[in-house]
This record gives sequence, structure tokens and C-alpha cells, in this order.
Amino acid sequence: MTKGPKRRRIGILTSGGDAPGMNAAIRAIVRTAILNNCEPYAIHEGYEGLIQGDSMIHPLLWEDVRGWLPRGGTLIGSARCASFREHEGRLQAATNMVLFGIDALIVCGGDGSLTGADLFRSEWSDLLQELVATGTLSEEQVAPHQSLNIVGLLGSIDNDFSGTDATIGCYSALTRICEAIDDVFDTASSHRRAFVIEVMGRHCGWLALMAAIATGADWLFIPERPPRDGWEDDMCSIIMKNRNQGKRRTIVIIAEGAQDSELNHIASSTVKDILSQRLDLDTRVSVLGHIQRGGTPCFYDRWLATMQGIKAVKAVLDMTAETPSPVVTIRENKITLSGLSKTVAVTKEVSISMQDKDFPKAMQLRDPEFMEYHNAYRHLNAADYRKMLVAPEKQLRIAIIHVGSPAGGMNPATRTVIAYCLAKGHTPIAIHNGFPGLCRHHSDQPEGSVREVKMTDDWVNLGGSEIGTNCSLPSEDMETTAACFEKYRFDALFVIGGFEAFTAISQLRKAREQYRALRIPLILLPASMSNDVPGTEYSLGSDTSLNTLVGFCDVIRQSASSSRHCVFVVETQGSGHLATLAGLAVGAVTVYTPERGMDLQRIMGDVKFLRDQFSQDHGANQAGKIIIRNERTSRVYNTHVVAKIMQDEGNHRFSAQGVVPGHFQQGGKVSPIDRIRAFRMAIKCMEHLESFAGRSADEIMDDDHSVTVIGIKDSHICLSPFGGQHGVEATETDWQRQRPSNELWMELQDVVDALSGRGSMAVV
Ligand code: ADP
Repeated sequence: MTKGPKRRRIGILTSGGDAPGMNAAIRAIVRTAILNNCEPYAIHEGYEGLIQGDSMIHPLLWEDVRGWLPRGGTLIGSARCASFREHEGRLQAATNMVLFGIDALIVCGGDGSLTGADLFRSEWSDLLQELVATGTLSEEQVAPHQSLNIVGLLGSIDNDFSGTDATIGCYSALTRICEAIDDVFDTASSHRRAFVIEVMGRHCGWLALMAAIATGADWLFIPERPPRDGWEDDMCSIIMKNRNQGKRRTIVIIAEGAQDSELNHIASSTVKDILSQRLDLDTRVSVLGHIQRGGTPCFYDRWLATMQGIKAVKAVLDMTAETPSPVVTIRENKITLSGLSKTVAVTKEVSISMQDKDFPKAMQLRDPEFMEYHNAYRHLNAADYRKMLVAPEKQLRIAIIHVGSPAGGMNPATRTVIAYCLAKGHTPIAIHNGFPGLCRHHSDQPEGSVREVKMTDDWVNLGGSEIGTNCSLPSEDMETTAACFEKYRFDALFVIGGFEAFTAISQLRKAREQYRALRIPLILLPASMSNDVPGTEYSLGSDTSLNTLVGFCDVIRQSASSSRHCVFVVETQGSGHLATLAGLAVGAVTVYTPERGMDLQRIMGDVKFLRDQFSQDHGANQAGKIIIRNERTSRVYNTHVVAKIMQDEGNHRFSAQGVVPGHFQQGGKVSPIDRIRAFRMAIKCMEHLESFAGRSADEIMDDDHSVTVIGIKDSHICLSPFGGQHGVEATETDWQRQRPSNELWMELQDVVDALSGRGSMAVV
């Protein structure tokens, strides 16, 4: 980022409903602004503070936002302010902006807050003229403020904005909902009960839909897509179908704004009565309420808010008087800018379409991804599932195998594949315990390792791998492997795993020349806490691990508050990716990764930095400081050695200790993000495998797309072929280091350092 031409004063304001992650955004804005020679100002209580001025507006210093990352809500306050809707209110706000010398505003809030901001900017020149004309301000006072820059950040737990995948706060709210439902599972199953769970969303069903997918709910109500007439029968028939298949619990998720096609509200109590009376189910209603809004932000919201906060400052610096106001959005993994007024207008159009009962339009405007998720959920849950069956000649025997270390998301993805296969008439076959399991069965072990599988509802949130995973590769016995493919008549192979799984598929692809049985479509769904699979920027399991690690660091950092001046060197598994992203989300001092390497000089530099920090601090900062070190960074300077050196060299300014969370990092229950991404990607994989039905073995072998890896690249989900000139093996794989050749996350190491005060922000 280049330095701005003049020292800008940037006002920061949170408005409308609060959301977890807003504090992380403020922290990133403040520090990025300071690093870029700007002066960040807090404006308290939303637009109310802008109108009142005085002590409601004040500068924020670097130290002021220390420790804000894990804090829920917004620490500069938020309010609904009726007077900002009035001309007089905005006139007073403009006066304060000029008096405080603020010439740019970053507003984090919902569509109301951003509409207000956009209106304020569009009126800016008129407001200044009026203030001069009435003598409130002089020509000289307004002269330096001829233009006002506004940048919006979308903060809302509802994820109700079109044009972005996520708003700051929505995944934390989803996490809270899923935790609550996971807990309800136990009671529901024990007593064979039904639960109607009401979640937030007066106009937007995102939270309800994602919660339904992440918890395998039986039925869902969202405002944008009212159920068809006669839904009571549909709902009862699905629930009975699921119960007849052995399901002991019933979960119905209802958004608070649920409605029928005539806009009549559907109440949770109505749904409860139907389940109790028609199906004789012991049914309870649980309204989750405000617990959904509060609490510490999940990893994703910390990352999103930090990266978007940085982007917002950059946008302020890049803007001219003519640039339309932007909002910061996200598409898959990429932080982008979109037009503020257009984003707000399309978002409002969704509500208008709903009021006009044009529900297809509402769904379409919401987001293509939203519709895709909804269709997939409905299809897999269809009342009349016979409609989904494909023609008998297109029905496939699909083998499922897990390869490598366990990772969060393996079970939910497998569950989705099984549900998909059963709905479409394919035969899902689980290969237990990886390739050795496959070959063992061939030599007639008593317990079959290759089994057709039935619906496995409990796997929806389970970590690890229920069918068992193994690191061995097919090359250890390719002959038997191929013989097994033939014996079990596999028509397609679905593999879940990390770099070992990638290698396994590569070997199978190459062995197709020799073994005809391997000439079937093969697909990889990357799952690895190391996030080390070529062809994707994101592997299942990394979000689960990151959440676990972030929670762990929050706790140990807090534990230092009684002893003070503590440094924890936390050792992580996986690759430098996990260390870096966790470092970003906990506000680590720095990260040590194998990719960047470390030596004594670096450690001594960090000791000096810590000594200076603690000496300036005068005991004000009670929580400990965190350094994250990947376990493979250096053979000599292991975690405990680093901690000892720091302790020794700290000159009594601080104490240091090494902490090793070990396998704890794999996480317990799978995070909601890993669950819903597992769902979406597994379905895409199945659709791809189905496209090869009816093709000959040789045709399949000749098609590079018959061996693919699914992934997220930049802002898209894509299926990339392994082989061929442009295939992932040739263009994106560093075979020697067993990693992708291009790792975009590496530059984030500098962001961690910069936000902890260790460097510049030139990289962003
Ligand atoms: P959200 O930002 O979460 O949608 P609101 O709709 O309540 O929440 O808006 C928050 C605040 O933004 C309002 O209290 C008001 O101060 C301001 N605001 C909202 N809409 C407008 C508008 N059309 N013109 C001016 N200010 C507005």
C-alpha cells in the first residue's frame, strides 16, 4: 500500500445491529490506517455519536485496540439513530466531520446504515454550502473538505446482502446455532423427540438454510421460499420416511420470518402442533434468540473482518472525489470491492420481491450460491424421492475412500455422498481403512472392508473418519488394487484426503495404461488440516482446526492475566498455513513457519521486540502474548528451546513458555463451514462423476476431466484435471516438497507481523 498524499483522518463507525467480528475490523482499520500515515477516529454509538460530537468522537491509538480480536459485539458502540434519517441530523453530522477534520468514513453495518452513509455522501456538497450560508462554518473551514469518502463494511449476522458470500458476523452466529442444535441432538435422540428450532432471520433465510444443511435437519422454513400449499403433508411424509429409515430424532429449522406463499406467518408453535397431532411426536420448540448474536467471533469472522478492514483503508486511500462509494465484499476466498449503492439496491429488491410474492425473483437476487445450496438441500430431502432416481443404465457403483490423516469434514462429506447416491439410485460403497483395507478384503479377511452403506445421519457433525483412513498408497500393491476395482465393479471412485490422497489418485491415473479396471472417473475432495492440496486454496478440515486452535490460544492468553508479562510459544501441526491463519486470528506477535524458516537472529529480534513492548506497557496489558510456531520450522530451535531462549534473554521483562496442543488441533465436532462446504463440494463431485455414466473405459481414459480435484481458486469453485499439459500435476504441484507450488497464504505472514507492530503494510 502506498502512502496517501496527505495525512487523512478516517472516522470509524459501527451502526445498526452489532455482529461478532466488528471489533476485529476496527482493530485492522486502526492499525492499517496508522501504518499508512492516517489518523483513525472512533465515532461512538453509530450516527448518534457523529451528530453529538464532543467526546463521542476521538482518536484511536495503536494500543487502544489491543485485545479486541476475540471480543464480541462492538466496543465503540452501535445505536439506531432516528435523527440521522432527518436532514437536520445529517447537517449536524457534517458540522462535526468538518470540526474534527474527518474526511473519510468507514461504516460497518447493515443496509440501513450503508444507505444512510451513501445518502450522506451524495448530499455532502449541499450540506457544506448550507453550513456556510447559515454561518455555522466558514469558507476556510470547509475548504479542505470538498469531498467525502465513504467505504462500507457489511456487518450483519443475517448474511442478508446480495453480492457477497458472507457478512461479518454471520458465521459466528451460525456456529452458535449449530452448537445449540448439536446439543439438542442428544436429548432428541434419547427420547425420540422432535425439535422445532427457531433461528434469527426476519427477511433472510441464510442462517436457517445453512443450519439445516449443517445439522441434517428434516425440514426447513425460510422467508424467501415459502413451502408449496399442502406443505403440512409434505413435511409429515418426509419426517415419517426418515423415521422409518431408523432416524430417532427430528429437527425442523424455522427462520423467524417464515411465511407461506400468501405471506401469512408460519409460527414455530403451529409446526409443533402439526408434529404432535399428526405424527404423535413428542415435540418441543426452542427459540434460540439473542444468544445467536453474541460471543467471541469464530475464526472465519476474525479473518474476514481483518482482511476487509485492511481493504477498506486501502479503498479510502485509492478513492477520488469521483469514485462511487464501495463496499467490501467476499467471493469464495477473495476480498473484493463492489458498488455500495448497487449492493444496497439489490438487497432491498429482495425484500420488495418477497412483498410482491415474487419468490423466484427473491431467490435469484439473493445470491446464486444461496439458490444452489437450497436446491441441493431440497433435492436430497425430497418428499417424493423416486423423482430423483436416474435411469437404471446410468446408476453407478460409487466407491468412497479416505486417505491420509483424519480431517474435519470427512464424515459430513461422506454422509452427503451416501444421501446423494441413495436419492439417485446409485450404490454407495465404503472402502474401510484406505487402500490397505481394500486389498486386505481381497485376501479374504473375515471382516469385509468394502461395504455398501446405508444412510448415516450421525456423521453430520462428527470429526475424524468413521470409515477409517490410512496413509498407504495404491502403489504399494497396484496389482491387487486394480483387481479389487474389477472384483467390486466400481464405476467411479470418490477420494477424500490431503496430499497423500492427491498422490494416490495420481498413481491410479498413471496405472490406467496398464489396468483396465482403473479406467473409471476418479475425483478428489481435498480434506487436510494442513491445507496442502494442489488445485485448491481451501481443504476441508482447516476451518475446524483453526477454530480449535484459536479457542485454545484465547484461553491460554487469558490465563496469563494474573501473572502478567507472559509469552506463549504455541506449537502447531500441519503446514505453515495453519500457523499463519491462526496467528492472524489471535493477533500473534509473529509466526514461525517452515516456509519462511527461522534462525537465532530472528529469535533475538523477536526477543528485543517483546522486551520493548513490555517495557512500554507499564502493566497495562494483562493478557499474554502469543507466538505461533509450526512444529517443522526448525530442528534445532524447537518450541521449548525457543521459549527457553526467550525466557533467558527477556531480562526479567517477561516469562516465556512453550505450549503444545498436539492432536487437539484436529478438533472435535466439525465446524459449520467445513460441514456446509463438504456438502456443497461433495454434491458437485457426484454430479461430475455422474456425467461419465454410459461412457466406455477408453473414452473415459482419454478425457483429462475424468481425473479431477475439486477446489476453490480465487473466487470460484472449480474442477481441475490432474493430467494433461495444463493439469494440476504439471502446473500446480511441487512434488519434492509435497505441496502446492503456489501458496497465496504466505504473504499473510507479513500481515500478522504488520498488525502486531513488526513491519510495514506494504504487502497489502
Ligand atoms: P441496519 O444498518 O442494520 O440495516 P437500520 O436499518 O436500523 O440497521 O439502520 C441503522 C441506522 O442507519 C439508522 O438508525 C439510521 O441512523 C441510519 N439509516 C438507516 N436508513 C437510513 C436512511 N434511509 N437515511 C439515513 N439514515 C439511515
